Amino acid sequence: MRMYDTQVAVIAAGPAGLSAAVQAAERGARVLVCEKAAAVGGAANMGMGPLGIGTRYQRQQMVDLTVEKAFNMFMEYTHYNVDARLIRRYFAQSAETIEWLEGMGVEFEGAFRYFPKAEPTWHIVKTDHGIGPRAASFMVKALYARALDLGVQFLLETPAKKIVIEDGKVVGVLAVDASGEDVRINCQAAIIATGGAGANKQFILEETGYRHGEDLFSFAIPGLMGDGLRMAWEAGAERLRVRVELAAEVENGIYLTGSVANVFMQPNLLVNRQGKRVMNEEHMQNTTFLANVISHQKDKVCFSIVDTSIIHSYIAHGVDVTSLVRTNPDVSDFYDGLRMAKENGYHTFFKADTIAELAREMGVNEENLIQTVADYNDACDSLDGEFFKDARLLRPLVRPPFYGAQVRAAGYGTVGGIRINENCEACGKNFEPVPGLYAAGADACNIYDDSYMFLLPGNSMGFAVNSGRIAGMSAAAYVR
Ligand SMILES: Cc1cc2nc3c(=O)[nH]c(=O)nc-3n(C[C@H](O)[C@H](O)[C@H](O)COP(=O)(O)OP(=O)(O)OC[C@H]3O[C@@H](n4cnc5c(N)ncnc54)[C@H](O)[C@@H]3O)c2cc1C
Repeated sequence: MRMYDTQVAVIAAGPAGLSAAVQAAERGARVLVCEKAAAVGGAANMGMGPLGIGTRYQRQQMVDLTVEKAFNMFMEYTHYNVDARLIRRYFAQSAETIEWLEGMGVEFEGAFRYFPKAEPTWHIVKTDHGIGPRAASFMVKALYARALDLGVQFLLETPAKKIVIEDGKVVGVLAVDASGEDVRINCQAAIIATGGAGANKQFILEETGYRHGEDLFSFAIPGLMGDGLRMAWEAGAERLRVRVELAAEVENGIYLTGSVANVFMQPNLLVNRQGKRVMNEEHMQNTTFLANVISHQKDKVCFSIVDTSIIHSYIAHGVDVTSLVRTNPDVSDFYDGLRMAKENGYHTFFKADTIAELAREMGVNEENLIQTVADYNDACDSLDGEFFKDARLLRPLVRPPFYGAQVRAAGYGTVGGIRINENCEACGKNFEPVPGLYAAGADACNIYDDSYMFLLPGNSMGFAVNSGRIAGMSAAAYVR
């Protein structure tokens, strides 16, 4: 067995673990990080940036968003079902965290909204190739470099397996290295930050009822198997509910040209298996709300429907709504994408010359769909009396062929599971901290109640970085 001695062992090097390691080392602790993957950064390598509230970017953009306003918004959104002390500390620290990251060389493009109704809290990391997915990998590089400068030791390809507790306190972490050799890290404090269980199909089924690959299409990175949750619960932390951080997605859309998903995620007519409308489609942009709607339908599926006139209008003039995730209004290769779908044998896209035929193709109630389209077309001539959709987004379905696509719930990963307090101390059923045990990031992200808060975007990476810092501060103080 290989042995290491440190003061603070950080389990995993995602944004929460990296932030914890840097912060603890800055506060004078000796820190060792063990990471399961061969590279650091976790899911942050896929994302674009963290939340900040009251930052200089917001002031420069003349955005009046105070911690007080964001806190009250958040608490009302979650019906006060979350830890107010933790939210307060996270939000109050978040602007300084943006500066802390800048201090190690991270640059930001500014503060952005995810969609028009959201607040501009999403601090997108500047890259050498403009705004886009994976931007936050530049933040990961800076955190990693800072950690190395501070003398933090990294053991890559070394998954942690167990927290060792003696006399009720953390005294070590057991892990296994890439060659299969056992590793023991003697430490006084351990910070768990393994990113949840987004890649663990069985766990998600048991915990949430979603069937990964059937009614839930997760884009969580591999390796997120709930290791940290299990280790924390075994070590005495209370088990809280784990939820999927839901988004919505055009099924199989990621394998095609981006135009296909872009067209079908527009605020088109959206129906369920019964052929009935399910929401005011202008709110589809809040991907969590859309996923919630889908989750309440039969077979957990909805169908986005367009006609040839709508497609031609999108191709000629650009789509109705864009976002920072789907920035490009140009969908001129939509038909190429549909051809690819056919060649690949995806049975989640449909084409028909009549609405009745489209209903049969999609497995949707035919009579209801015919009626729904007739009512919807009437609404396009007057007002949407059913769900009050903005008249500018009402487009009639008149010109064949008609096209439909299945829209499903997707997941960034899981959130929550380990009880923590506002110091990110892992707490037992009696609400008392397990001495020396801390948790941060997705493993401990119990802050959304039932739905991810896209109205303050950047929240999950923001929570990861900020809770990581808090855990690092607390652990450094504890070992001192
Ligand atoms: C495609 C995508 C885009 C996203 N974009 C954004 C965004 O722009 N803004 C935002 O706020 N959020 C975004 N998110 C979510 C955000 O990235 C996560 O909330 C955040 O990365 C969670 O941080 P974490 O450190 O808790 O976990 P992770 O980033 O998931 O890292 C967990 C780490 O733990 C390691 N690990 C697992 N088990 C073990 C073990 N036993 N021992 C050691 N290591 C282990 C993993 O290898 C991984 O490196 C996005 C997520 C995805 C998937």
